[in-house]
Amino acid sequence: MSQKLSFDQFEFKKTLGTGSFGRVFLAKWKGDANKDPVAIKRLKKAAVIRQKQVDHINSEKSILAALDHPFIVNMHGVFHDPRYLYIVMEYVVGGEFFTHLRKTGRFENDTSRFYAGIVTAIFDYLHGKNIIYRDLKPENILINRDGYLKLTDFGFAKIIEFRTYTLCGTPEYIAPEVLLNKGHGKPVDWWTLGILIYEMLVGYPPFVDEDPMGIYQKILAGKIVFPKFIDKNAKSLIKKLLTADLGKRYGNLKAGVEDIKKHKWFTGFSFEDLLAKRIPAPSKPVVKSKDDTSNFEDYPDSEDIPPAISASSDPFVDW
Ligand code: AMP
Repeated sequence: MSQKLSFDQFEFKKTLGTGSFGRVFLAKWKGDANKDPVAIKRLKKAAVIRQKQVDHINSEKSILAALDHPFIVNMHGVFHDPRYLYIVMEYVVGGEFFTHLRKTGRFENDTSRFYAGIVTAIFDYLHGKNIIYRDLKPENILINRDGYLKLTDFGFAKIIEFRTYTLCGTPEYIAPEVLLNKGHGKPVDWWTLGILIYEMLVGYPPFVDEDPMGIYQKILAGKIVFPKFIDKNAKSLIKKLLTADLGKRYGNLKAGVEDIKKHKWFTGFSFEDLLAKRIPAPSKPVVKSKDDTSNFEDYPDSEDIPPAISASSDPFVDW
């Protein structure tokens, strides 16, 4: 549920992370110590306007407001002032999946399957609402206190009719049809799941290079090197997801997501138990208190103050 909130209700604390248009802060509800702390994403209006992202940010807000899922960050509400937009979300205390993956190096087969199961369940839910996420990467996946994951950052997500044609996303995770400008819909998300499963099991993504052009070339060439230790069923599913031909990519065939859920790699894995959180998480983050930020990196707190946008030229007056 989303509601109108206001600046005075919160006490801003540490920066948890930074994004393209601003940063995310830990914040507390003023005068109510019992309420759970929140994460507030603060975006610079001027930067959003300059980079022509007004529609993206508006859809981020409306998409988040429409979602209600255990593996997706819950939005409490929004507010704005002449300089900034603020999105108030639940605080996910375990930090970025990215940090966890880099610290561990790579994950065991069972661990990777648990996390991949969560992402599969998320995409299944989103696609059922005709929303494509389009920007899966380990930085946008957060770890909850219970060791389950929560997806954040719906800045690239889009409600679709059939196909959409904007180039966005992270180079390592871009699907071939996006590069070739053939339009991209739900199958893009399944491609990124293939990249994520590979990265969890191997420790780095399948298409790597020092510069983005090199990555793009490798994506289009489509050659994937699998280290010997990768489980054969995992390898089989990764190949089915990292298939350039949309007519053959898993998730995009007649059976839809069922092809993935019923793939051999997921044998014995209950998506029903996963949704009910009946499966013990492979590990839980160390959390000392509800407002513990030790699982997040440190960021300098100072930042230039962006210009105020006058009400007459502010596309966000009705936020
Ligand atoms: P974003 O701009 O949405 O990609 O967020 C930037 C960073 O802020 C993320 O990579 C996380 O480190 C952090 N972050 C975003 N949302 C939350 C949240 N709900 N709880 C905790 N940290 C968050």
